Amino acid sequence: MDATRRAEKLTLLADAARRAATYIGADAPVFPSTADIEALAGLTDRLPDGPKDPAEVIEQLDRIGSPATVRTNGGRYFGFVNGGSEPEALAANVIAAAWDQNIALPVMSPTAARLDDIAARWIVEILGLPTAATGGFCAGAAVANLTCVVAARDALLAREGWDVSERGLMGAPPLQIIASEEIHIAVLKALRVAGLGTDTITFVPTDTHGRARAEAMPALRPRALVLLQAGNVNTGHSDPFGPFAEATKAADGWLHVDGAFGLWAAASPTHRHLVEGVERADSWAVDAHKWLNVPYDSAIAICARGEDLRRSMAMNAAYLPAEAERASMHLGLQMSQRARAVETWAVLATKGRRGLASMIDHTCALAGLMAGVLEAAGAEILTEPALNQVLVAFGDDAATERVIAAVQDDRHAWAGGTTWQGRQAMRISCSDTMASTDDASAAAAAILDSWERVRPGRLP
Ligand SMILES: *Cc1c(COP(=O)(O)O)cnc(C)c1O
Repeated sequence: MDATRRAEKLTLLADAARRAATYIGADAPVFPSTADIEALAGLTDRLPDGPKDPAEVIEQLDRIGSPATVRTNGGRYFGFVNGGSEPEALAANVIAAAWDQNIALPVMSPTAARLDDIAARWIVEILGLPTAATGGFCAGAAVANLTCVVAARDALLAREGWDVSERGLMGAPPLQIIASEEIHIAVLKALRVAGLGTDTITFVPTDTHGRARAEAMPALRPRALVLLQAGNVNTGHSDPFGPFAEATKAADGWLHVDGAFGLWAAASPTHRHLVEGVERADSWAVDAHKWLNVPYDSAIAICARGEDLRRSMAMNAAYLPAEAERASMHLGLQMSQRARAVETWAVLATKGRRGLASMIDHTCALAGLMAGVLEAAGAEILTEPALNQVLVAFGDDAATERVIAAVQDDRHAWAGGTTWQGRQAMRISCSDTMASTDDASAAAAAILDSWERVRPGRLP
């Protein structure tokens, strides 16, 4: 490498590290101000003709870009189900960025391949899944769900002697598709993209916590694909896996679980009972970028039998080595891809079993704390908090909407809204494992302040 260019890279990297540290260290509002957002107009948006000093570009990126980010990392963000990043996850991410490894094949990076192998095994082990289960890292639970749905589709049809990879789906025997009424839209998209469509889904009705009702399960026919979830995005509750697993096994069907965030409950002895029986499924989709708090984007698609994942995902070409017991390109949709497992390995190597359980328990405790404070002040908690999610109403729908808008406007904490069983609710997700008890108390206080400010009859 040209010595001058190498020096330029090193100088720029040191500058970026300093800027990133300043960003992490600042105690700024959780959401950007209107002025900060308007200032984004100042980012270079006309493709330049000629080169300029990269230091200038990075300076602009930080000066204009950083202030208009949402501080999902600072302990006061409770929106959607977005995690932050643990210190070792961010540090590993920086080192992995310097490595710039492609993990398509082990020969492209022995280090990345080894970390990928270890991290995938650790996830299977720490979630209590069958030891023979095999997982492939991917970009998010939406992709992981798609990967698993495709594997399920192909496996169910292969049992009938129908090879989807050769014959496609046209003329194939139909699958029976059964899903919880509360199944996440990402799973519906997976069905669409996998050529299965959504018209034929039999939806299983759910209870007041959003859990599929086992007694309402339809009779399973041959080639049944049953789709459940661990961790409802609104309530945090999980479907009762045992009875569905029993019926699916008896019908020689396939049970898939979307456990984007909720499956991590299995890593906590205190919360594991909430996902009881989940290990009996045939496949699981789990995010690392949500509750495990590694940087975006990272998830894993796991099949109980590795050959099911490989049947659907393997690619072969003359220029590829025949080896590859564990090659990412044969375990997922992507070929070239970043070495996502690096951050997951770093978090699990740092925390161990007990540390991970503490991360889960801590964030669940924050959710309980906030629910308690808000309820004591007269707000209504809509479902019994399970895991890290809380649904709150502040009177009628209009009043709740006003409180959500006021909280977002105030920028001390950030939470979004949702509709739960016909009612408007504020949705609080405690997914940032770096958030402290003080952060949760301060956020609850900020929510109550906002409620006070928008109460009808209050003098301006
Ligand atoms: C977030 C989420 C998804 C989608 O996951 P991405 O990581 O955003 O792709 C799917 N299902 C559930 C239950 C989720 O919470």
